[in-house]
Amino acid sequence: MMTNKLILLLAVLISFTAAGSTFAADLTIYSARKEHLIKPLFDAYSAQTGVKIEYITDKAGPLLQRLKAEGKNTRADLLITVDAGNLWHAANEGILQPVNSEVLTTNVPANLRDPNNQWFGLSLRARTIVYNTDKVKPEQLSTYAALGDKAWKGRLLLRTSKKVYNQSLVAMMIAEYGEEQTEQIVKAWVANLAAAPFSNDTKTMEAIAAGQGDVGVVNTYYFGRLKKKDPSLPLALFWPNQATEGSGVHVNVSGAGVTRHAKHPEAAIKFIEWLSSDKAQNLFADINQEYPVNPSVKASDEVASWGTFTASPFDLSKAGELQSAAIKLMDRVGYR
Ligand code: FE
Repeated sequence: MMTNKLILLLAVLISFTAAGSTFAADLTIYSARKEHLIKPLFDAYSAQTGVKIEYITDKAGPLLQRLKAEGKNTRADLLITVDAGNLWHAANEGILQPVNSEVLTTNVPANLRDPNNQWFGLSLRARTIVYNTDKVKPEQLSTYAALGDKAWKGRLLLRTSKKVYNQSLVAMMIAEYGEEQTEQIVKAWVANLAAAPFSNDTKTMEAIAAGQGDVGVVNTYYFGRLKKKDPSLPLALFWPNQATEGSGVHVNVSGAGVTRHAKHPEAAIKFIEWLSSDKAQNLFADINQEYPVNPSVKASDEVASWGTFTASPFDLSKAGELQSAAIKLMDRVGYR
């Protein structure tokens, strides 16, 4: 019996040592951003600073579950994910911690980070209107709400309401217009749909280019990716809600937060400070054709070529706070 216990203890000790020597990392990151979008940044940071980074990538949901299950024993110092809704959830589940960093509060505008500084937006994407240039003139477009006008009957294509991007869009509309008005808008969208909602933004745009519908709502970087693949596609972006004071294009972020049980919180903070800096913002944003969050950094030429716009000034934490209201609203009006 004693021997068995001793063997078990030894085995545990050996496995920890082995883990320690195999992953002698200074910083451990759980990333819901895909490896090809994030590894170049880890490599650049390691090359610059000598900091050894270990990481795993997975979808946001499983990573949050894992962090919760691991609790105090987690190796993760930092969580990186897309969408303010996901970041808000992580903070709300208690797996992040507030960070006191003047660098971050300077580099990241207040509406693009958690009010308690548990997460920080690091790259920005707009969820905007896309249209078929053979069938629509930009003068015919104005606001997200106007996509519910009779003129667009049988011409609108949308991505599924199951995607967090649309949940955040509708949540931010609730923040701006209130629930009642938002419900009317989304109901009118559903009435205008030319086809059942698509599983992703790219399919939505391909259908618009193919003439299945004339207008839709997508994230800017998917537009950039598709146009790069086939520049001849008759697609263009339109920036809605520009004429109304206090309104603007719906934007969202990818971002990061230091985990509650981080073993290397200082290293984690240093790394996100670096990501928000002039040095790294273009590296982070340009790799996925996104916009820098740091106002002192310019977007890449390609992204800038899509034109300038006023972004919605509303606090992105609302995307999380109002997410369940948004999901229920979309369900009520039959947006699948
Ligand atoms: Fe995406």
